[in-house]
Amino acid sequence: MLHNLGSINLDHFYRVSHLVHPGETLASHGYHVGLGGKGANQSLAMALAGGQVSHWGRLGRQDAWARDRLARAGVDVSHVELVDEPSGHAIIQVDERGENAIILHPGANHGFSRRHRDTLCKAAKPGDWLLVQNECNALPELLECARRHDLAIAFNPAPMSDAVLSLPLEACRLLFVNRGEAAWLTGLPEASDARVLLEALHERLPHTATVVTLGSEGAWYQSGDERHFQPALPVEPADTTGAGDTFIGYFLAALQEGQPITGCLAFAAQAAALGVQRPGAADSIPSRDEVERLVS
Ligand code: ATP
Repeated sequence: MLHNLGSINLDHFYRVSHLVHPGETLASHGYHVGLGGKGANQSLAMALAGGQVSHWGRLGRQDAWARDRLARAGVDVSHVELVDEPSGHAIIQVDERGENAIILHPGANHGFSRRHRDTLCKAAKPGDWLLVQNECNALPELLECARRHDLAIAFNPAPMSDAVLSLPLEACRLLFVNRGEAAWLTGLPEASDARVLLEALHERLPHTATVVTLGSEGAWYQSGDERHFQPALPVEPADTTGAGDTFIGYFLAALQEGQPITGCLAFAAQAAALGVQRPGAADSIPSRDEVERLVS
């Protein structure tokens, strides 16, 4: 079982003629709400890929549908707490050109305490995977506790912030970063050659396996002297939001099944390529059947 302590957000999308100006009141001509948050997306992707994942999260009581949605996909939600607080949510304006402006409120995602950390570290068995992103609070304590309990930590430091630089990253077994995050962690320019970024990450974290995703350019993996490149599939993207989350969930499900790293990379790239051809984040994550049909 993989334990994912991660954000659950409600994404409120408003279609507008233009992004709202200061002082302006603007009527929206379209609205929908979807499940989001990197944590929830990654759990959903892993479960849809056939993986065993237990999500540790906090959600406002009024939004229990989001927990039910994860459960229906096969995520173990017994550690998703319903609380009397606002859920994490994003207010997303999308204008006619597809530009967006987002207000993100972490809400219940920032209410993790020592109790959650201790319960998780006790519930997990030594060697179990713990997956975390950077949308919840209390990460330093959680990573230290996971290290003491011998959990295998997989970390996706997204969205990147200065706080990540002071985390005990050397405690991580596996790191998933995109190009921007790799540049931030290494201090190198974002336009650097991907292999240079990979090598710099390896020098900084020699005992951590690293996946650097590069959008339509594919992804690199390095662990010690082992290196693999996985090209992205040539597809026409409709919306690349959540591509990284789909990639991570599918990669980890394949790893849990015991597939070799090259198989994990290929499975992840196939799933992400299907996802980018559809709008939305959580809503765009394909099922395992769809991915298998793509390659058969
Ligand atoms: P996000 O933050 O939107 O979730 P990310 O920046 O973390 O995404 P990317 O590096 O953009 O992640 O993409 C992850 C993987 O998804 C890539 O390695 C690739 O396999 C796949 N992918 C992304 N964009 C495309 C694309 N345009 N065409 C095909 N595959 C893509």
